[in-house]
Formats: sequence, C-alpha cells, structure tokens
Amino acid sequence: MNRFANVIVDISHEKVDRPFGYKIPPALQGVLQPGMRVQIPFGKGDRLRTGYVIELLEVAPFPEERMKEIASALTDVSQPQQRLIALAAWMKEQYGSTMIAALRTVLPARQRVAHKEKRRIALGLCGQEAEERLLFYEKKHQTARARLLRELLQEGELPWELVVHKLHVTAQTIRGMQKDGVICLNSERLYRNPVKPTEGGGYRKELSAAQQFIADRILEDFDEGRRKPCLIHGITGSGKTEVYLALIEGMIKRGKQAIVLIPEIALTYQTLLRFYRHFKDRVSVINSTLSQGEKQDQRERAYKGEIDVIIGPRSALFTPFPDLGMIIIDEEHENSYKSETMPKYHARETALELARLCGAVVVMGSATPSLESYDRAKKGEFSLYTLRERLAGGQLPQVYVEDLRRELRGGNRTIFSKRLQEKLGERLERGEQAMLFLNRRGYAGFVSCRFCGYVCKCPHCSVSLSEHRKMRAPGAKYQENGLLVCHYCGYTQPLPQVCPHCGSRYILGFRAGTQQIAEQIGRLFPAARVLRMDADTTRTKDSYEKILSAFANREADVLVGTQMIVKGHDFPNVTLVGILAADLSLSLGDYRAAERTFQLLTQAAGRAGRGERPGEVVIQTYQPEHYSIRYAAAQDYEGFFEEEMTYRRLLSYPPASHILAVQLSAEKEQEAMEAAGDVARTARELAAQETPTGPLPQTVVIGPAPALIEKINDVYRYGVYIKNRDYRKLVAVKNAVEKERAGQERPKANCQFDFDPVSAY
Ligand code: ADP
Ligand code: ZN
Ligand code: ZN
Repeated sequence: MNRFANVIVDISHEKVDRPFGYKIPPALQGVLQPGMRVQIPFGKGDRLRTGYVIELLEVAPFPEERMKEIASALTDVSQPQQRLIALAAWMKEQYGSTMIAALRTVLPARQRVAHKEKRRIALGLCGQEAEERLLFYEKKHQTARARLLRELLQEGELPWELVVHKLHVTAQTIRGMQKDGVICLNSERLYRNPVKPTEGGGYRKELSAAQQFIADRILEDFDEGRRKPCLIHGITGSGKTEVYLALIEGMIKRGKQAIVLIPEIALTYQTLLRFYRHFKDRVSVINSTLSQGEKQDQRERAYKGEIDVIIGPRSALFTPFPDLGMIIIDEEHENSYKSETMPKYHARETALELARLCGAVVVMGSATPSLESYDRAKKGEFSLYTLRERLAGGQLPQVYVEDLRRELRGGNRTIFSKRLQEKLGERLERGEQAMLFLNRRGYAGFVSCRFCGYVCKCPHCSVSLSEHRKMRAPGAKYQENGLLVCHYCGYTQPLPQVCPHCGSRYILGFRAGTQQIAEQIGRLFPAARVLRMDADTTRTKDSYEKILSAFANREADVLVGTQMIVKGHDFPNVTLVGILAADLSLSLGDYRAAERTFQLLTQAAGRAGRGERPGEVVIQTYQPEHYSIRYAAAQDYEGFFEEEMTYRRLLSYPPASHILAVQLSAEKEQEAMEAAGDVARTARELAAQETPTGPLPQTVVIGPAPALIEKINDVYRYGVYIKNRDYRKLVAVKNAVEKERAGQERPKANCQFDFDPVSAY
C-alpha cells in the first residue's frame, strides 16, 4: 500500500519548486492518484496550501515522525487533467524545468471565452449557377471569392476555420458572398441545391494490401492489449496518411479518441481537407494562428467528447481527451517536435510517456525516420512497418549528382551546373515546373574550400568548426582576424588564408541568397516566371501558403526557396528539383549535420515527379563523395542509417549515447563563464564518484565552451556538454546542478538544460 506521496506546492517560487513528502491519511489511501489536487499544511504555522500529488510512495522519503499529513483531497480535477499533471511532473524530471513551467505547458492558463458555434460554409447555388458565378469572379479577378467557390464546388461544404485559416478568405468576403446568396452559413440545414461533390477518385481510398496489413496488425495488437509503439517507414507518397485515417477510424469504432501530430509547416489545406472529409465535424485543428481562447475552446470540446480527433503541432499532445486511444506522429524526424523553451521536451518521448499513462498506442511515420526511432525499431522496442511503393502513380525520380568543384575548374562560375541549366531549359520549353532548393542552414560561420571541398573539423569532436568573426578566448584580447571555433569543446584555430588541403584561395562561404538566384535565372531564361520563398518573402502569416498555392496554380515556372520541403502539397507539374548546394547543411557544427542533409535531400527529391511525368533531381555539391549525399542520391535509407550509426557509436553521440547540454547565460561574460565552470565541476565530481560498471563508458564532461552564437542581445552564453549512455545518469547530473544552484543566494547566471539537443547553439 502506498502510504506516502510526493506533492508539489502550487506557489510560483523557485525555492519551493520541488516535491515535498507527505503522509497519506488512511481514508485517502488507495484513493489518491498522481495528478490529484490536495490540501496540505505547509511552512511555518502550517497554513493550508493547494498542491499536486506527483508520485505515490511505499517507503517514506525521510523519517516518518517528521512528516506531515495531507489534509484533504480536492475532486475538482478531471481524469484527463490528472494525467496531464502527472505528465508535467515527468517532464520536469526528465527535461529540467520548474514545475510551474511544466504545468503551464500542459495546462495553459484558463481563459473565459464565449463558446463559439461550429460553423460550416456551404454552397447556396445549384451547380450550374455556381459554375457561372465562378466564371464571373474569375473574370473580375476576385480571387478569394473564386478560390472559395471553386473549393465548394468540389467539396459541397467546408468548415469555417479551414476556409479562414487555410484558404485565406476573410470573414468579410464570406459575409459578402452570403449576402449575395452564393453561400450559406451555419447550415445545419442542408444546402439548398446540393451539388454532388466531384468524386476526385473517391474520398475513401481502398487500401492497398500493404496498407491494409499495417492497419490490421496495429488494430489487432491494440485489441489484444499490446501497446508497443509502431514506426511506419514509407517514402513520401507511399500512403502513410491513408493508413493513419484507417487507424483513427478504428479508434473511433472502439469509442476512443486520437491525437495527430503534424509539423506546423505541413498543416496545409490539402492535408487538413483529407481529415475533414473523413471525420467531418468530429475533427478539429490546433495551430499557432488560433488565439489562446480558440485553443481553449478546442480543448474543452475534446474534453466534453464533441470531437474524436485533434490535429496539430506538438502542443496538440496536451489535448484532454477522456479516453485517448492513439497518438500519431507524422514526420516523426522533424526537429520542430523538440521544444525550444523550457521544458525542452521532445514530443515523441513525451507522447510515449502520455500513451503509457493513458494506455494508448503511439504510431510514428516518416520517409526518413530519425536515427533514434529507427535504432529503437531495430532493437525491437518499436514495431517496424515499411511501405515501399508510391500509390498515386509516379516513379521515384532519376537523381544526378553534380560536382561543383569540377564546374569551377571547367570555368563555370555561375551557381548552376551545366546539367541543371540544361534541365531547367527543357522544363521551361515543355511548360513544366521546377523547384530550386537553396540549403541555407549552417550558412552562418560556415567556411569551406570551393576548389576541393575541404572543410575544417575539430580534431577532438569531429564536427566542423564555425567561424567567429569576433571571438574572444576567455581572458584573451579581441582577435581581429577570424577564428574557427568548435562550440562543443572550445577548441580554436585561426581562419586559414589558403586551403590547407589544396592551397587554393577559394576558401570562403556560399553567399548567394534566393534573390541572386532568381536574378541569375532571369539572365539565363528571360521568359521564366520565378517565385521566391524564404525568410524575406514569408514575413507575414499566410505568405508561405500564398506562395505555395500560386505555384500550385502554375502562376510561376520556377520556385526558388530555402524551406520548401513541404508535405501535404502535391505539385504534379513539377518534374525537376534542383538542390543548389547540398553540403551547406553538412558544414553545420553539429553532430546531426549528416542526418539533416540526408533528410533534406531525400525529402526534396520526393517532391519531383508526383504526377504522371517522371521526375528528375539534380544535386549540386562540393563533396559528391560524402556518404549522406551518396545514400540520398541512391534513396538508400538503410545504408545511410548503418554508416551514420557507426559514427555516432564511435563518438558517443545520440542515439548511441545521450547528451545533456547545459546553457548558462548572463549579461556579464565573467558570470556566464564562472557559472559554466561550476556546472562542469559539479558534473565532474559526480562522474568521479561513479563506480565503473563493466564496458559502459562513464560520464564524459566536455567544456565549458562559448556557445556557437556567443552573444545574443548582449547576453553571453556558455555551454557544458555531458554524455552518458544511461539517460538517468544525466538526470542525476541535472538534479545535482539544480540542487547546488538552489543553495546559492543569487545564482550567477540563467541556466537551461537541453537533453539530446536537436539544434546547435
Ligand atoms: P504519405 O502520407 O506517405 O506521403 P499519402 O497517404 O499522402 O502518402 O498518399 C500519397 C498519395 O497516394 C495521395 O494522393 C493519396 O490519395 C494516394 N493514395 C494513398 N493510398 C492510396 C490507395 N490505397 N489507393 C490509391 N491511392 C492512394
Ligand atoms: Zn582546397
Ligand atoms: Zn571540439
């Protein structure tokens, strides 16, 4: 019997932001559950405070006679909420943050909102009249009206949110069309002249044998009480989404609900429409364009059982469904599943824990699974399923790898290889479309030899060095010339003037942006219509989607972009994808650089040839021999995985090991540096106490070192890296650091923990 409980006090103060042990009175034994709210005597005078039970214990955490007793339990917290509170406690422990921050993440502040009706928009004209009206709108260039009408002719009716947030038709336009009788609103009553939605190949696809097999197996396992997480490895277009739809249907039949995580960038109209068609008003979407109130509204509807499915980015995980059966994580390799603010949780790991708490199953899918997941699948921790064929027709594209060093030696100083120029010309002639992808990640600070492809690497960490223009070694004077720095261990060396490998002076960065590229295309092909998509052209909220839909409507021949790896957008007329400098992301001073490059190239290649005509991909690179480029060109995930794992094992990087990055930041550099020194010392002391356990390597402490971007907004940043194969050892280091800092009168710097970081800093 659990006679004790750890309780977190509901006061936002750092000093009490830890669990306190309490006795459970006999009347509450067997009743109390993690996540429940209780009244406890606290502090001097034993004033009654509210707290959350986060853990039940059999053994007293400290001498029983000194323990106080829980006064009473409050029953105002629902079951789903209790689970989320228990999840918050887990997140606090696992990722390092205050309990308050963890609670705020899972239970956003309550806000009073007027309950909004679920509105739908339907066609108000019969088919013929609507067609005529559409022609009229098109002639008048009333594009928003035309867009909505065109979709309604297809779908019959659409949810309000989808029209406003994804089709970008304003409320005003909708009202206008309503007044003209073109559409009707809130139509619980059926639309006046129902047009039969055009059967675009049928909404419900007959699953292929491979798809059906996966869906059946997962549901069978579910029915028999097995909850092993599943990973579906399937190339883009192999029908993963269709499998998700079948699985969710299965859940609904069983009276359960499902959460579907999709990266924000892939929450496009096309994707959402597929879910709406299937689940009508039983599905809702949460995304960043919703206000706090609207989000709260969605959570309430989920809680009351008004919907069965929620779709959204990582925060959709915290939807309080009464009987959650399944969590689907699409594009599970995406970095956006890792939170960048405290607690720095990973949605995949957190989903696994939530599923454990609710008895749900996690289903992940990707064309390029993260090494973490694939490794676990190979070890048997996840069930692995594979989809190998594209279903909507279309073969895998033909891939060419072009060596930019050879182009330079051959006198070609443009950004385009001969082959890419040639292929681009062909497309323009044939009226087909092309996408050019500029891989700009890792652009900052990256230096390489354009003649031979040489990249400087840290002799200790085997990640590439980054250029710091004004980097100061601790205690040293400012350096005028550039320095190359390893931001893992702090190793520095001067920026070479000539390439150490071939002696060429072409040792510099790739400076072209999308604008220069668009200009060059204009010079080569004056008639080409070019669209750009990058941070500059996508400043406003919907510009991203507007550019994509303009391209889909064939308003341009070429799309040049930095972030166009988009799921949920099919461009059947794109038959050429060019990747202008594949290695830019390889040069990031980050152990995940090769993985990221492989993912980018594979996903970009997946954009070509989605329609009837075969696609071609041109990968331009300075390092054609690099394994991530070779395997991506060959579309060989397995080969890449094996080679990359060897490297991760050799250097103890995740998933072969775990890493805890501790970031210290302060306005005074001295303080950040000293605080980082303290952390490193605490970690080293703890490591020294370890008893060697067989072949397992012990804790390795690296640093302190200045962060990649050493100073942001006048705040200095230092980091310490700690590695161990055993995650719990890293949690112990985190706890020791937290404890030491809690004992300090005024901690020197701000301290943040990041377990298995996904981005370099
Ligand atoms: P993924 O999620 O793996 O990228 P999708 O589920 O989006 O794949 O499917 C890709 C395309 O193939 C879509 O256009 C989809 O409608 C179509 N498709 C999927 N499954 C089937 C099927 N069983 N029969 C016919 N077409 C299918
Ligand atoms: Zn060189
Ligand atoms: Zn190093």
